[in-house]
Amino acid sequence: MDKSASKNVYVFVEQREGVIQSVALELLGKARELADELGEQVYAILLGKGISDKAQECIYYGADTVLCVDAPELESYVTEPYAQAICQIVNRYNPSILLIGATTIGRDLGPRLSARLTTGLTADCTGLAISEDRNLMMTRPAFGGNLMATIVCKEHRPQMSTVRPGVMKIGRRDTERKGNIEAVTIDFDKSKFRVKLLKTVKEQKNLVDITEAKILVSGGRGVGNQEGFDMLREMAKTIGAEVSSSRAMVDAGVISHDRQVGQTGKTVRPDVYFACGISGAIQHLAGMEESDMIIAINKDKFAPIFQVADIGIVGDVRKVIPLLTERLKNRSK
Ligand code: FAD
Repeated sequence: MDKSASKNVYVFVEQREGVIQSVALELLGKARELADELGEQVYAILLGKGISDKAQECIYYGADTVLCVDAPELESYVTEPYAQAICQIVNRYNPSILLIGATTIGRDLGPRLSARLTTGLTADCTGLAISEDRNLMMTRPAFGGNLMATIVCKEHRPQMSTVRPGVMKIGRRDTERKGNIEAVTIDFDKSKFRVKLLKTVKEQKNLVDITEAKILVSGGRGVGNQEGFDMLREMAKTIGAEVSSSRAMVDAGVISHDRQVGQTGKTVRPDVYFACGISGAIQHLAGMEESDMIIAINKDKFAPIFQVADIGIVGDVRKVIPLLTERLKNRSK
């Protein structure tokens, strides 16, 4: 294909019930960096019903142009209408790069688009950069996280990637930024709409979003059991933190998956991350090593977690955590 006709970095701006998702803002920031390096522009693709008033936000976070499709067919996410809308936009505007959040929606949408647009898709990326020959280098963990693979889509356009939420940093919200907002109309082929959304039932479970926490007290196999986690909860309560976990404790049924940090859990970036009885396996580090400060407590002084820790305490969590909690309680009095 003639790649010279493809230009600019596009971001699918995921919104749910009219709320732009953090991952979209993260991607706009990253897209800005990539576009600046290429000397190109950032386009935001904003789809939904009654969402035009959110377009300006995309400009504040880095977009030069927002392509806004405000249509009843796009009120809630359903694969077919969303795929049709984005395919038509891609065919009309010819992007060089298209970034999508690796959320449940993005993971459904990305493969559908790549098949229809006959281009590649690198799923679940943790790094994006521009190569010397101006291709997008898409990095993701491979072989169970034991190595990082960098993938390039040389022959086809757009270069498509889904990116893990929480990996890229949200840029500054700059209300001085100016940009264009274009209302785009889509010619939907409704004969292809085979799925109807009848109703949405929200899960009643009290899910916590550990990615939003400023302080995380995270426990691993060294914490052991529910009793051990009660100790962590007590400490977390004292300092206004949330409790998170390694996969070992999720697999053991001690804590729910929505609190798992790591490659198959969440990527977190808190101000302080307490790693308690966590060895520091590569798959765990992938989800927390960008934390501003890491405090590790482990009885094995050779545990790999100490290599990424800012402060390391060699000791038994069952002794250290109660002492620490006591000290913190006294300080907050
Ligand atoms: P362990 O590795 O068993 O470490 C326990 C640590 O506790 C040890 O360092 C030990 O010295 C210390 N300890 C023991 N007792 C005490 C005590 N009383 N006081 C202080 N320290 C003590 N893991 C994740 O966490 N998140 C993921 O998303 C994830 N995804 C994965 C994806 C794939 C494809 C694969 C193959 C693996 C994945 N894993 C993930 C698993 C990962 O490889 C490790 O097995 C896991 O992180 C280990 O958890 P842990 O550190 O709690 O346990």
